[in-house]
Parts: sequence; structure tokens; C-alpha cells
Amino acid sequence: MKQSSLFTKTIKENLKDEESINAQLLIRGGFIDKLMAGVYSYLPLGFLVLKKIENIVREEMINISGQEVFLPALHPKENWEITNRWQQEENIMFKFKNQRGKDMGLGWTHEEIITPLVKKFVHSYKDLPVYVFQIQNKFRNELRAKSGLLRGREFIMKDLYSFHKDEKDLDNYHEKAKKAYFKIFDRCGIKKQTFLTYASGGAFSKYSHEFQTITPYGEDEIYLCEKCRLAINKEIIKESNYQCIQCKNKDLKIKKAIEVGNIFKLKDRFSKPFDLKFKDKNGEEKIIMMGCYGIGISRLMGAVVEVYHDDKGIIWPKNVSPYLLHLIRIEKDKEIINKTDKIYNDLQKEKIEVLYDDREDKTAGEKFSDADLIGIPYRVLLTKKTLEKECVEIKKRNEKKSKLIKIKDVIKFVKEISK
Ligand SMILES: [Zn+2]
Repeated sequence: MKQSSLFTKTIKENLKDEESINAQLLIRGGFIDKLMAGVYSYLPLGFLVLKKIENIVREEMINISGQEVFLPALHPKENWEITNRWQQEENIMFKFKNQRGKDMGLGWTHEEIITPLVKKFVHSYKDLPVYVFQIQNKFRNELRAKSGLLRGREFIMKDLYSFHKDEKDLDNYHEKAKKAYFKIFDRCGIKKQTFLTYASGGAFSKYSHEFQTITPYGEDEIYLCEKCRLAINKEIIKESNYQCIQCKNKDLKIKKAIEVGNIFKLKDRFSKPFDLKFKDKNGEEKIIMMGCYGIGISRLMGAVVEVYHDDKGIIWPKNVSPYLLHLIRIEKDKEIINKTDKIYNDLQKEKIEVLYDDREDKTAGEKFSDADLIGIPYRVLLTKKTLEKECVEIKKRNEKKSKLIKIKDVIKFVKEISK
């Protein structure tokens, strides 16, 4: 992509109406734009990041046998009345009437849609287990939406629902999902900062699990056992007697964190009201056990920025960066222009993701500070000085030192770093 043809621009100054780091940097870098509090547009650079995170999540869900669907965002009141959540969760849902006066709402979760859907197809033990997931826009009528992508009124989520013949099968899949979640956080570059966190299980289970990513400005507080690498959330710390649930260690560290995912054993909480049953081997009818597994895709993007930035801008981990390379041209010399164009074309031919700052009306200083703000992992530069040595200068976004690589070896080098 040539930066001269990118329709968005960066913003130099700090934004007065954004409190959170993720919104500040993502808006200033030209990744997102705020339409209103908690509602953002994804611009070309931001949409690339979003798609990368989405694809990582999708691949890992397919790896644990998830089948992808796409469910409606617009829901009839009737489905939500069956589980009593139309009234119970009054304030979470955006609700309105259609032209005929029929009540409807925008989905903030999809148990009320997926359960009756699965009921249409699953009747026998032979049909189980079933794992269905989607990546969808969800809506929450938040009172306050001030944390950028961390707490949106409209946001993007992956939610997977699992259906089982018994609790044991549900437990096994729950463990599998846990592992898949850590693979996702690993691929997104935040595994080191992310901890399995015990949370309240609500009415149907002793505990549920959250995945909390530690950052200085996280909205949640967790109590971390460094020995076991697990945490307990604020809700249940009293219940656990301020001890680690696993090793009973009392030396827990209080940390600020962002919840990036959660997994729940729903058991019969939804299958019961929808009367979702199956016939077992003996022809006996049994209730289906359910689990649900959520990850905030847009929130994950915000969390990555909260973890990886400095005072100059974002520092994208390789796997979720919009591009791998930021090729920059700062000299107007004919030979430099031609040679840099050639490097760009060669990279394009090799399908290497590169943003090429070919803008004529920007100074070197402006280009470098834009590169730091946008935060692509590797900056590549060709100047008269480097050309004398038949080299380009390559600098990592998070390192001060740069190194020279022979122009003829650039593709080889890039293939090495993209592994
Ligand atoms: Zn412990």
C-alpha cells in the first residue's frame, strides 16, 4: 500500500476528548474514528488489524471443531422472554419497537438465538457434540463508554456455543477451549500478560473463567498468584479468603487488568427453558449441557495497544500489525526514488505486507514520527549513504539501533523475520 494513496491521515496532537491510551493512539494513527461515545469506524489500517485478530481467533476455533455461522443482530422479544432476560437484563439491551409495535432488541449475546436454532437439528446422541461459533457485531447500552475499544456500545465479538450429552463431555471441551484461548493470546502477542482468572459462576456453576490481560490502566482489578500463573477477580476474592484457589498462597499481587475473554459452563441454564433435549442410546430423553466461550475481537485490539506502546505511538506485535514493513523514502533524488520503488515492487511481488511512505509533501522528521505512531514492526530506509554500501537500513520499532542489509538480501531477510 502506498501511503500517498491512503485516504486517512495521522493526527499530531493529543486528543482532548479521549481518556484512554488505546483510543488516543488508534485515532491519532488513523486506525479508527469515533462516531459517538463507544462507537467507532474501522479505517483501512485498523480494519487490517481487526481482520488479522479475527483470523487468528477463527483458525483456533476451527482447530477445536467450531463450525462458523452468522446469526442476526436484530432479535425478537419472545426469545428473550423464554429465559426471563428481557426483563432481568433490562439495562444492557438496546430495545425498540418496529412499525407494527412489535418489541425487538439488538443482541449483546446469542444464547437465546443459538439454542432454539440447534434444537431444530439436534435430536439424538448421534448428533452430539455440536460446536458453533460466530464473529458478530454486538450492542450494549452502556451507561459510560469512555475506554475506547475496551468498552464499546457497539463492538465485535467471537462467541462459541457448545452442546453436550453430559457434564463430563462439557468439562473436557472447557479444558480444550482454555488451551485454544491461550494459543490465541500467544499469537496476538499478549500471552505473557494474560492470566486465567476465576470469576463468579453465577447461578449455574461455582466458578467461571475470565482471561485478564494486565495493563497499567485496566478497568478491572485481579489478585494474581505468580506461582500458579492464575488470578482471582474482585467479585470472588472475599469468597476465596484472599488465597490462591489452587495453592492457597496468600501472597497475591493486586494488578489492573482488562478482561479479553471468558468461558462459562452454562449447563442447562438455556437448554432447560428452550427444552433442548436429545434421545440417548436407550431412547431416553435427556437435557443437553451447554457451554459458551467469548472473546472481544475489538477489545483485544484495544488491549494490544494498551500493552504495546510508548510515548511515540503503538508498537504492534508482528502477527496483528497492519503491515510487516514500513518502507520509507526521505530523499527526492531520482536514483533513490527509482531504487526504493523497485524494492517496493519486489516486496509486492513476493506478497510481503508493506506500507510505502512515498509522500512527496512530508519531511523526514514527519515521516519518522508517523512511522513511530503507526507502529509497524520494521522500518526500512534507503538513503544515498546506505546506497553507497548497496544496503538499506532496517530498524525495529521497539529498538534504537538499526542495521544495514544488502539490497539484494532484503527479501531473504524479510522471509526470515516473518517466520
Ligand atoms: Zn497459587
